[in-house]
Amino acid sequence: MSTKHTIDLDFDRNHIWHPYTSMTQPIPVYPVTNANHNLIHLETGEKLIDGMASWWSAIHGYNHPVLNNAMTEQINKMSHVMFGGITHYSAVELCKKLVAITPEHLNKVFLADSGSVSVEVAIKMALQYWLSQGINTKQKLMTPFKGYHGDTFAAMSVCDPVNSMHSLYSGFLPEHVFVPAPVSQFHDEFNQAEADELEHYFLKHHQHVAAFIIEPIVQNAGGMNFYHPEYLACVRKLCTQYDVLLICDEIATGFGRTGIMFAVEHANVQPDILCIGKALTGGTMTLSATLTTDKIAIGISEGEAGVLMHGPTFMGNPLACAVACASIDLLLEQDWQQRICEINQALQQLHQCGSLTDVVNVRTLGAIGVVELTDEAGIVDVAKIQAYFVSQGVWIRPFGKLIYLMPPYISDDASIKQLCDAIYNAIKGKHYV
Ligand SMILES: *Cc1c(COP(=O)(O)O)cnc(C)c1O
Repeated sequence: MSTKHTIDLDFDRNHIWHPYTSMTQPIPVYPVTNANHNLIHLETGEKLIDGMASWWSAIHGYNHPVLNNAMTEQINKMSHVMFGGITHYSAVELCKKLVAITPEHLNKVFLADSGSVSVEVAIKMALQYWLSQGINTKQKLMTPFKGYHGDTFAAMSVCDPVNSMHSLYSGFLPEHVFVPAPVSQFHDEFNQAEADELEHYFLKHHQHVAAFIIEPIVQNAGGMNFYHPEYLACVRKLCTQYDVLLICDEIATGFGRTGIMFAVEHANVQPDILCIGKALTGGTMTLSATLTTDKIAIGISEGEAGVLMHGPTFMGNPLACAVACASIDLLLEQDWQQRICEINQALQQLHQCGSLTDVVNVRTLGAIGVVELTDEAGIVDVAKIQAYFVSQGVWIRPFGKLIYLMPPYISDDASIKQLCDAIYNAIKGKHYV
């Protein structure tokens, strides 16, 4: 039995910041009372088909009994205990699973509390590694334009400078080396000129570069760019050749989203450091991890500091670790690759948008579908298009010129059809201007 609460929208509007919004001119927020399977229930009675998986995370849908059960069992033992000087079953089991499913050389796990923090930790690992080797000139990072790695400062410093408004913080943000964003698309041929250009940057900057950081195969928040695996393979080769560490940020792409467990596998690439987050707990709790190789872990530990200088209060949170174990098991127990293929098939319906004049490109990869509008069509009015989507019984949140779907893996064909149709009708009816 649950008590009936009403959500105080006036208080929300006047006192609470939502992501990337103004405090004086916020766009409307929709009050949600509960969510189940792939449906989000509004206080006003509507049920919305979820097309976002709560920003890549809720891969098994909402309120999943297996995940709920894992959390309940853990709550009854302990919700949290400090990780300094203490360990516990859920953390150990989770790290075993992570070592098993990630690329072979990644054997050492740091548990952090959000994606951005796992990126901070990855950067610290890289800097500390070179210091431990007696090299103090490698203090910069190299990264392609159009990247997104989180909102904390070190993470933000390697995000696309325009998208993340570096100009606001210039003078405060460290300046890193930006290389051209990958151009050749996943399904097209690779243009060798991109590799040559990359080499030019490595040649010029490698002495000052500790690590190259990149989102493998899909640049997410920076433009939903599905790029050619050969670009990533080239980066790996050049990193090895020029003594630069490779950090792969799989926070969005991990756990099957691109059709393969980790997107680095599309290019058979072994990163030196890997960040995971988002779907790690099946969208239930905040948790992330940074994995690295024996070589780097040993280097850091034998360096002057002797330790990795990081330790969040809620490190290894038992509740988050327990549900992450359950989420990984749930994924591995099913034929998840087949499931992602089926979702990809259903997402092909987005190609109906290709005939609309405002659409410049439609693309899919794994369980991701993107409709990109033309420059002339302009930036989507999010408040307006969201109101339309809600009226159509779907939950989709576009950004810029991109209207995209990354539904929970449990979505059925009928739901995906409804999501695709809503996008088609929104563009056709210009419900975003
Ligand atoms: C979301 C995201 C992050 C940041 O994760 P948070 O949990 O929001 O801090 C970092 N990198 C990528 C690729 C992401 O998609």
